Amino acid sequence: MTEKLSPRALMEKLVSFPTVSRDTNLPLIDWVEVYLTAHGVSAHRMEAPGQPEKAALFAHVGPWQEGAVVLSGHTDVVPVDGQQWETDPFEVVEADGRYYGRGTCDMKGFDALAIWAMVEAQGRDLTTPLQLALSYDEEIGCLCPPHLIRAMEPVVPKGRIVIVGEPSMMQVVTGHKGDIGLNVHVHGFEVHSSLLHTGVSAVHEAARLIEWANQRNRQNRAAPRNEIAALFDPPWTTQHVGTIQGGTASNITAKDCRFFIECRTLPGVSLDAWKAEFQAFAREVEAEMQAVHPDARIEISEVFKVSGLVPEEQGAAEALARALTGDNGTHVVSYGTEAGQFQEAGYSVIICGPGDIAQAHQANEFLSVEQLQAGQDFMTALLDRLSG
Ligand SMILES: [Zn+2]
Repeated sequence: MTEKLSPRALMEKLVSFPTVSRDTNLPLIDWVEVYLTAHGVSAHRMEAPGQPEKAALFAHVGPWQEGAVVLSGHTDVVPVDGQQWETDPFEVVEADGRYYGRGTCDMKGFDALAIWAMVEAQGRDLTTPLQLALSYDEEIGCLCPPHLIRAMEPVVPKGRIVIVGEPSMMQVVTGHKGDIGLNVHVHGFEVHSSLLHTGVSAVHEAARLIEWANQRNRQNRAAPRNEIAALFDPPWTTQHVGTIQGGTASNITAKDCRFFIECRTLPGVSLDAWKAEFQAFAREVEAEMQAVHPDARIEISEVFKVSGLVPEEQGAAEALARALTGDNGTHVVSYGTEAGQFQEAGYSVIICGPGDIAQAHQANEFLSVEQLQAGQDFMTALLDRLSG
């Protein structure tokens, strides 16, 4: 364990832990904690609230002062169920200039680079500190980072710049949309459909809520766009209902209808305000339902909420990452990450990590050998800068 591992060897180790979001990540966290400790880096664990089988980990290297660069990655991966893998997904297999394995791209490759950089940093005389933040439950809605950010603040000096290592082909990504998901359960009142006026069809009432989403999509699409909006495809806030179940028979007004609605907001659009507007419309619909039968009602529960990443004016994170990569392009992405959550907590944040998001979550997920090397070059340049 005292042997220093290369980024590749670290990635092999991390991939060998099948940390699918629904399962434990403790064996991985235990291993990383022991590895870091063996190399003089004291790591701190945060137990997942209400989930004893999961934990996050954070660490600080360098002078005990504020202003660290924080390397942020998630330890969970998406399931492999139903996917046709040609290799064991939980073993890194190198072929054709690629490392195959679940999480190589999203995002244990970056995690490995970050752990490697922490150990390297420990052997250097840093003038600016470096921190590591490893989370759980990212793939099911970035549930961990708000807790992790709060857990870090009293224990280690507050960092200033966060690099979220989601796959970006090592390009500097400065913005992404926000994302909120709600479970909606419409409770109707069952009668024979010939007596429609005395019943409340949960299916019909759900349709009204869904039509609200359609109207919003049309309005948003037609609305004037600002400069930030224009970076996105599509350049407007979208709402989408991906699943719906309801009703039991063609001649009974449905007692239940459940659906899942998601809203992807332009950065800067308030997720809470969107939710409040949806809830307000649901209350109007509910009042009309209850005028027919008092038991009818609409239940709404939030499943996840991931803030958007707003491109910063003269952002410190952006300036640093541009200096390290030489990338001067403008990039935004359509996936959500913990970047917006760190930004809300007062950090300057960008996304920059190895690999192509197109390979994430796929069967035969891979990270190219070249991208892992590009990531290592980035970390080396970062260490040089933090020691300078
Ligand atoms: Zn990811």
